[in-house]
Amino acid sequence: MAATQEMERVIKALKLNNYNPVLYVDKAKDAVPIILDMIPADASIEMAGAVSVSQLGIQDLLRKRGNKGMEFPRPGESSPARKDVLLVSTNAVTLDGKLVNTDGMGNRVTGMAYGVKKVILLIGANKIVRDVNEALDRVQNVIAPYHAKYIGLNTPCALTEACSDCDSPQRICNITTILLKKPPMTDFAIVLTGEDLGLGWDPAWPEDRIEKIKAAYRVEMEKFRAMLPPRKD
Ligand code: SF4
Repeated sequence: MAATQEMERVIKALKLNNYNPVLYVDKAKDAVPIILDMIPADASIEMAGAVSVSQLGIQDLLRKRGNKGMEFPRPGESSPARKDVLLVSTNAVTLDGKLVNTDGMGNRVTGMAYGVKKVILLIGANKIVRDVNEALDRVQNVIAPYHAKYIGLNTPCALTEACSDCDSPQRICNITTILLKKPPMTDFAIVLTGEDLGLGWDPAWPEDRIEKIKAAYRVEMEKFRAMLPPRKD
């Protein structure tokens, strides 16, 4: 299966935006050895809860060979900037190669912008959007509401499944970054796949595709839940 025209356009745009390497695999599983080869065995790694990476079991393989840093940090204990590698996905990538991401705490977006030696992005076909407006709409009205609802937050979108630009103390959309081009002080490697990975869809897609994306997300979130440190209260 060759890359779709849409995927080819994104790959070309990312290269023009100075990202190197930008690689493509049809099957998501074929990204695993590529990514493992990119990471030194003694590198410390921040994953920032990346569902796309977790879906491929990459964190378990990294742990087995001795890489550290994939545990969930407590506030103040750790920062992506102190790790060697940030291994994550993106909320969305536009057809002209812009990377759009929104965080609650900033642990992912700050590392993507500056401070980590190497950023590796694993991007599923479902993360492609037309432009920045569509990316922001996707974050606010698909990704954040579904995530907020699933993890049981008391935000308006968890009830309505639409963003109301809330003032909730549990708001998860506090910092948005748009990487227009590659940040010059950070090495990036981007691996795209023709399969869907992580959270994100266009509501106009067939229901079975959307359901598959949601189901895969739920499986990984349950694994994350089991790994969370015990509450102190
Ligand atoms: S700003 Fe608030 S309502 Fe909007 S998506 Fe984020 S958490 Fe939900």
